[in-house]
Amino acid sequence: MVAMRNYNPVTKEVIEALKAVVGAEHVFADAESLEKYKTDEETDPRFFHTPEAAVEPANAEEVAAVMKVANKYIVPVTPRSAGTSVSCGAIAVCGGIVLLMERMNKIIEINTDAMYMIVEGGVRTVEIQQKANEKGLLYAGDPCSSDSCLIGGNIATNAGGNKAVRYGTTRDQVYSIEVVTPTGDIVELGARLKKKSTGYCLEQLIMGSEGTLGIITKATLKLLPLAPYKLDVLAIFTDVEKATGIVPILVKAGLNPTSVEFMDNSFVRSASDFSELKLPHYEDGSYVIITIETFNEDELESKMEQLDELCNANGATDVLEADERVWTIRRNCLESTRVLSKVSTSDDLVVPVNKIASTIDYLTTLAKNYPFRVFTLAHAGDGNLHFQILKGDMSDEDWENSLASFHAKTYPYIYNLGGRISGEHGIGSKKVDPMEKYTNPIEMKMMKDIKKALDPNNVLNPGKVFNMK
Ligand SMILES: Cc1cc2nc3c(=O)[nH]c(=O)nc-3n(C[C@H](O)[C@H](O)[C@H](O)COP(=O)(O)OP(=O)(O)OC[C@H]3O[C@@H](n4cnc5c(N)ncnc54)[C@H](O)[C@@H]3O)c2cc1C
Repeated sequence: MVAMRNYNPVTKEVIEALKAVVGAEHVFADAESLEKYKTDEETDPRFFHTPEAAVEPANAEEVAAVMKVANKYIVPVTPRSAGTSVSCGAIAVCGGIVLLMERMNKIIEINTDAMYMIVEGGVRTVEIQQKANEKGLLYAGDPCSSDSCLIGGNIATNAGGNKAVRYGTTRDQVYSIEVVTPTGDIVELGARLKKKSTGYCLEQLIMGSEGTLGIITKATLKLLPLAPYKLDVLAIFTDVEKATGIVPILVKAGLNPTSVEFMDNSFVRSASDFSELKLPHYEDGSYVIITIETFNEDELESKMEQLDELCNANGATDVLEADERVWTIRRNCLESTRVLSKVSTSDDLVVPVNKIASTIDYLTTLAKNYPFRVFTLAHAGDGNLHFQILKGDMSDEDWENSLASFHAKTYPYIYNLGGRISGEHGIGSKKVDPMEKYTNPIEMKMMKDIKKALDPNNVLNPGKVFNMK
């Protein structure tokens, strides 16, 4: 639930002020244009909200000037990159202006000696990955949405993804960011340094703040050496507990995998059907995709042998060398559920890695008491679970009540394990209530004090992460 404060409407005067900043052709206030921004990847119409205007700035100076207009007239601003948020992060829940980042799409510099890349906030993640690869380097951020999402959105949400188990999440790939503050100043935070103990680490505070503390307009990204030897393995299990139980075993064995991704059989079937691909044990298998990368061919071979032994010893039905098809199936998981249910919700929970098997077991058993279908995915190597809950043909009332009851039993369980209610998708506006309920009150007060200090008029992305009363 979003606690609305009284914002002013976007009047003709505000529209004129915005046109003066970005040019008339980059301000949209007609119903047809605004319809596109009423949702992001959210499928439940209860969460849709159409903004009053959308603006497309060309650079940080224009973003800053938009924020000055927003503060002058007290209208909210919602930053929006590609709108692939699954937590209603890019929805203008309090109305006002949507700030579109897509024009800021330049790669400014790639330095192969010092191994960094400077990009504007609106560059597509896949382009960054490809440009780094072309130079024999790696940009290690790799959310499953990389084909569509933008780097500013990734930094704002601290996106995780397929390679986080080895390289960390987006915040670990960033040296510094250029940020427009909620009151319209421009500041460079961070530095291209290996280490730094010079005051507060403000760049890390902005990263993952979901566009509530600043707008990311530029970033200096870390590039890594690209490992020349790589193999994907598909370990198939018919017992879910054994499939997820392999994760801590692999971590402890020191294999340092790049990816450890789990898909239950519901996802195996739906994503294989969607992708028109069928791999072994489509009917009864849970898949664990494991990627090993090395700088030495012998090391790859010995790690593969060790991996094969460990999977077989721990109940794998089959251990196969995999190809790109397995990643196509993995990347299509979320999309594939849309065919089965127009409305679904993506729960993104994170627990300590050694608790992942018991958590999946607990939640799968719990879900059997409800009329919805639950499909399970996990960036298993990081303890990050995605429960995709499908509404099917349930009534709105049953859906709402069932979800509320399921979550009331899920979230305390997760917190008791030392987990949290988002591992990578963020709180957005969808999880504001549990965020407020389960976060330590002193921690919550610290967050609100920071927000108040940086955004005194609460105009930047209000209704996200928590409510300002
Ligand atoms: C098929 C699919 C797969 C996905 N897989 C993953 C995955 O593997 N890992 C993962 O972490 N997420 C995943 N996601 C979720 C989503 O893609 C990520 O959260 C992504 O980082 C959002 O990027 P975006 O460009 O779409 O940002 P948006 O959705 O537009 O915005 C996300 C949030 O960031 C804010 N924001 C956007 N741009 C800026 C900016 N420049 N400055 C400040 N704030 C900003 C917005 O206000 C919003 O709160 C997936 C989503 C889909 C649909």
